[in-house]
Amino acid sequence: MPHENNCYIMALDEGTTSARAVIFSREPSVVGLGQHGFPQIYPRPGWVEHSPDDIWAAQLAAIKDALKSAHLSPEDIAAIGVTNQRETTILWDKATGKPVYNAIVWQCRRTAEIVDDLKREYGDVFKDRTGLIPDSYFSGPKIKWLLDNVAGLRERALRGEILFGTVDSFLIWRLTGGRVHITDYSNASRTLLFNIHKLCWDYDLLDILGIPESLLPEPKPSSQIYGYTDPELFGASIPIAGNLGDQQAALFGQAAFDEGMAKCTYGTGSFLLINIGGCPRKSRDLLTTVAWCIGEKATYALEGSIFISGAAIQWLKESLGLINDLFEIEVLASTVKGSEGVFFVPAFVGLGAPYWDQYARGLIIGLTRGTSRAHIARAALEAIAYLTCDIIESAKETGVKISELRVDGGASKNNLLMQIQADILGLRIIRPRILETTSLGAAYMAGLAVGYWNSLSEISSMWMAEKIFEPSMDRYDRDKLHRVWKEAVKRSLSWAKVLKEAGLE
Ligand code: ADP
Repeated sequence: MPHENNCYIMALDEGTTSARAVIFSREPSVVGLGQHGFPQIYPRPGWVEHSPDDIWAAQLAAIKDALKSAHLSPEDIAAIGVTNQRETTILWDKATGKPVYNAIVWQCRRTAEIVDDLKREYGDVFKDRTGLIPDSYFSGPKIKWLLDNVAGLRERALRGEILFGTVDSFLIWRLTGGRVHITDYSNASRTLLFNIHKLCWDYDLLDILGIPESLLPEPKPSSQIYGYTDPELFGASIPIAGNLGDQQAALFGQAAFDEGMAKCTYGTGSFLLINIGGCPRKSRDLLTTVAWCIGEKATYALEGSIFISGAAIQWLKESLGLINDLFEIEVLASTVKGSEGVFFVPAFVGLGAPYWDQYARGLIIGLTRGTSRAHIARAALEAIAYLTCDIIESAKETGVKISELRVDGGASKNNLLMQIQADILGLRIIRPRILETTSLGAAYMAGLAVGYWNSLSEISSMWMAEKIFEPSMDRYDRDKLHRVWKEAVKRSLSWAKVLKEAGLE
């Protein structure tokens, strides 16, 4: 399908705290951007909600701002790709489009008890079929909670009056004027309901959770025309042609198309995804997930999440006042050559992959009279790098070979952190020219579906490094430091249990 030179692709990047719209040209360059935040709702400790109408309003406003900032009209957009905060769960009335409850956000822990039961009885079944370790994080238990707790909802659902969607499905349903109820395999693979081998909803798992199939969106590949925007919204009928979860989109936006290619996004937390090709390889400590599906061909990824990474630097700034600005961490940490035996384990909310200990708590160990602010700053950066290294080590146990790591996210701008990461991993770290990898991944999916871009090799050839960090530490030193790091982690494990037993938590 030929395209005029003056048309563009728009990515809708619906995140946890804001909705963005990013317009890309063919090279690709960012030519327009809109971003609107929306409120976080905390009804009880550990519960997190969003209003779906707030998300919708923020997304529409972001689209309008992006068009305005690029001086474009909706007719200039050849296709829209969607990417989103994953797992967040919305149920709405099929006839009126009204949400029946707030969106239950991925961070929300209200389903902890449902999940404990699932894990005990069916942990292996879920892991084998969905690639996931049952956790409150995922959508299935959130749907069950809504059906169990919203008055009359289960009966309405059984009458076929209710629809479920992660945010991608909800946005696409509304953008198409209620005509299209779909999701893509990458988002579906975060629900605990999707069989990642057969690429379909798993009826046994639906039964275990008591979820009627009529709620569910139709799962689709990540790159195809799903439908068109309702002309009443923007005065144009734009194809919606790409859809994938945010971390998978970042992997795609990094052009990590071959087995063993990996990306790490360093934000509040870190998310490391490794392309494992067309077979869903199993890992003891990491999640297996659908990365994307183009045509008939699904690509899988191993995923490890670190709950606190960049947030540790924010903590040093905001809670300890160690630095006044985030960029100062690099300046301060550069004043020393190493952390001189100081290790910082930022387990503020427990530890994710590969430790999976919700009772771990943060520690700084190895302090002496000679310890300075700079050593602590350096230990914080090193911790981010060690946690990433732990995930790569787990991935290697599955036999996957990783040759380099592509990076993005706010903290990836820190050159010292990236050099430390290269040294500790013994791998080349590459930061791309375009750091908007999540939006770019969604744009590529949409662009491929409408022929705006033609092939993965074309996209690969457009990917450009901005800076490369070569490893320079010798293996002996690297292994020694990593061993000591693991000793520090050991000392942080189960600490909340110790406090609890002593009546201190
Ligand atoms: P998110 O999308 O999770 O909000 P971002 O990708 O915007 O995250 O990155 C923000 C995170 O990056 C914050 O936690 C912040 O502390 C960290 N960060 C930002 N700049 C730096 C820096 N120069 N060095 C280290 N960490 C940084």
